[in-house]
Amino acid sequence: MEIRHIPLFKGIDAAERRLPVLIERAKERGPVVWLTAVSHGDEFTGIPVLHRIFNYFKKNPLKRGTIYGLPIMNILGFELIKRENPYDDQDINRSFPGDIKGDTTERLAAMIFNNIIETNPDLVIDIHSDTLNSIPYIIVDRPLSDEPKVKETVEKSWQFSERFGVTVTYDIDIPGYRKYQLDKSLTASLINRANITAFLVELGGPNILNETFIRTGTKGIKNILVSLKMIDQKEPAWVSETKIETKGRMELLETITTNENGLIEYLVRPGQFAKTGTRLATITNILGKTEEVICVQRDCYIIALGDRAVSFPGSPIINVAAEEVKK
Ligand SMILES: [Zn+2]
Repeated sequence: MEIRHIPLFKGIDAAERRLPVLIERAKERGPVVWLTAVSHGDEFTGIPVLHRIFNYFKKNPLKRGTIYGLPIMNILGFELIKRENPYDDQDINRSFPGDIKGDTTERLAAMIFNNIIETNPDLVIDIHSDTLNSIPYIIVDRPLSDEPKVKETVEKSWQFSERFGVTVTYDIDIPGYRKYQLDKSLTASLINRANITAFLVELGGPNILNETFIRTGTKGIKNILVSLKMIDQKEPAWVSETKIETKGRMELLETITTNENGLIEYLVRPGQFAKTGTRLATITNILGKTEEVICVQRDCYIIALGDRAVSFPGSPIINVAAEEVKK
């Protein structure tokens, strides 16, 4: 393994701030794959996943191509266990492709983005962590234009993501996608601005490391590397028992929010199918009175329940996905 650094800036203590990149090169030329993690400083699962993948090559050398691993994009956020970039409180994964003359986080995003695209990658997998109470799942980005090349890249990203072995869903519909600046995520920018195949995988457990999610990520990435003939297939392709299979493709719906302040009690579990009208959660006040019953408005699958016990009006508590309705 080779280690390179992306230089960022010089600190007041004259120390260089830089991002380490792990690199594994095979003798034979082949696909270029990037594995990236921790743009959100409190989502750690990607780090041990990368360690296990790069360790695997010690006994099972890479057959062809190159793998780049960027274990932490948000180093100060990691040290402070904070989602945003603490230098200016901006979300790195809502700042791509970045701007080399922009604000602090835009500059960081640009350094990362430019370093990735100059290697001309065939695939970029960005690892995140939804709640601990979630199923592992992949989000495929939306095309932001009708350009055939962009649509083709989205389709290729979907095809790749299906080989990972977990539930796959498109991100939320375009208006919400733009509203929440999901169109400025790393994967969205790679697909839409550079025609680079990419997807994001959510391996739950912000703030902590969960062995099941780490194994899921490691096995899924091995599936992908086998499909690219970069490593040998040692066992049949792995599929998570949590993978939701539907006839049509799924899309994330807007996160379900509450209207009342109180204690949240969930009535469903991640992975479960919920028919229209199913009760998802109740909100109870300090006297034990039920203030709100949250029901689902459309047939859907439960993807993630919030890692929180208390709701306020507008608190996002449940992520769901549903089969796409063709317009
Ligand atoms: Zn994240």
